[in-house]
Amino acid sequence: MRISLLGASIDALGMEETVERVAVFIKDGRPRRVITLNPEFLYRAQSAGELLDLVKRADLVTPDGEGIVWACRMAGRPVPERVTGIDLMLRLVEKAAAEGWRVYLLGAAPGVAEEAAERLGRLYPGLRVAGCRHGYFQEDEGHKVAEEISKAKPDLLFAALGAPKQEKWIDSHLEKSGATVAIGVGGSLDVLAG
Ligand code: UDP
Repeated sequence: MRISLLGASIDALGMEETVERVAVFIKDGRPRRVITLNPEFLYRAQSAGELLDLVKRADLVTPDGEGIVWACRMAGRPVPERVTGIDLMLRLVEKAAAEGWRVYLLGAAPGVAEEAAERLGRLYPGLRVAGCRHGYFQEDEGHKVAEEISKAKPDLLFAALGAPKQEKWIDSHLEKSGATVAIGVGGSLDVLAG
């Protein structure tokens, strides 16, 4: 069930249900966009219609904020917790290692995605990292980056370009990238690389 809040539709799902939904997406194989919606993004979207449109076009929108969790409760669809980008990424990477999904890490400064991949590989042995790439490219290179990613054939693409750059890039380039599920994860690669 989706709840409406300030023009956005949010999936009233907790972490485990979200992971299961992503697993269904991957099995299904069609390209899907996931947004972890935090209050800052929702606030900015109030005066930027293009941001609200990105949220509307997403296939799954998670409640990434206490206020959003509260709104779900008020709508009669309580969710057990916030579903943040980094938490979701960690749970999905764990699941990816178990299921054999191929993950791609896009974003942050040169070398950071590789370090994050190494750390994730240690945390979740057996993880298949399809590729890594830094996130400093010009807007008109977005297409080229997607083409590069498509050669790695990822099931799951984590885009850590910061919001809303990552959501915009995913919106425009997911099909070309060949990834099945793409999620914007903000500064998560920096956190993971330590
Ligand atoms: N970043 C990037 N390309 C850019 C701008 C930013 O890859 O053109 C990266 C940056 O290095 C950092 C992340 O995007 O790793 C943004 O982190 P931040 O915590 O600012 O994002 P937020 O959580 O606010 O979306």
